Amino acid sequence: MAIVYCKRLLDFEQWEGHPESPFRLKTMMKKLSSEGLWEGVTSPFEINDEDVLRVHTERHLDRLKKGGNVALDADTILWDTSYEYSMLSAGVACTAVSLAMDEIPAFALTRPPGHHAGRDFMGGFCYLNNVAIATARAGVRTAIVDIDAHHGNGTENIFYGRDDVLFIDIHEDGLFPGSGHMEDVGEGKGEGYTVNIPVPAGSGNRTYMKAHDEIVFPVLRQFRPELLVVSMGVDAHYCEKYSHINLNTKCYIDMFKKLLAESSHRKIAFVLEGGYHLRATAEVAAGLMAALEDREIRPEYNEERKESANGPRAVDRARDHHSRYWKL
Ligand SMILES: [Zn+2]
Repeated sequence: MAIVYCKRLLDFEQWEGHPESPFRLKTMMKKLSSEGLWEGVTSPFEINDEDVLRVHTERHLDRLKKGGNVALDADTILWDTSYEYSMLSAGVACTAVSLAMDEIPAFALTRPPGHHAGRDFMGGFCYLNNVAIATARAGVRTAIVDIDAHHGNGTENIFYGRDDVLFIDIHEDGLFPGSGHMEDVGEGKGEGYTVNIPVPAGSGNRTYMKAHDEIVFPVLRQFRPELLVVSMGVDAHYCEKYSHINLNTKCYIDMFKKLLAESSHRKIAFVLEGGYHLRATAEVAAGLMAALEDREIRPEYNEERKESANGPRAVDRARDHHSRYWKL
């Protein structure tokens, strides 16, 4: 197992007090060190414009290079430095995927995150789609599983017409950016290869495990990817204030273990997306590294929150919908 980390990424921030802060990585490092899990740390290689242009338009890249310190949305500025740091972050993801291709499961400490960046758009703290760039660079049959509480609209946009990249996304229905309807299944030869599972606010462990057991894993087994890439958002944790999903740390760890078991020859990379409660995110990261090493941690943020029946019902609806493309 490996951790891919770039110290220079600690120098980037939107502005002081912004949730997507360097403290996310600093708290993670501290927690991983205290658990004896800050090991196998690898520096990333650098990527070039050619890597970016496999998934983004030239216009997108030019706009990013130009910077200008202008607002993309209420929470994201296109800084003059955004190009430099987003290239480093995408390099972290590419390095993790490269290790995964060598059968070394890897965790990419990427920031800025990437899954809201599409072919020709950026925002939601994202400039370059780290996961998409790394997937396209690997060039093999790949499944991307996005467990961030927000829908990965950028990743969906990039691979919407592809049948060699499967995109599965479980997310809170109606949360930013508002996309991810189960009816959005891909287009052309990509029809059926986008699998959205929107779940309502208030969903928790039971809903997520049901979605994985009844949709995510059966679809993965039928698709048979060579590479598995996880868009690892930790903002579906009950500690998080930017979503209304109530997963505990154990549920995250169980998902990671099952995803690892589903990967072919452990060709799996976990690429950080959101997760803004510093200590819960760090704990989940430690849980991931422990799982990759076949070890256990003792989670502190592990309450079982009550959940309504609406979550499992939403999973039933999504399963019925996607069963026109997959045996579910
Ligand atoms: Zn998110």
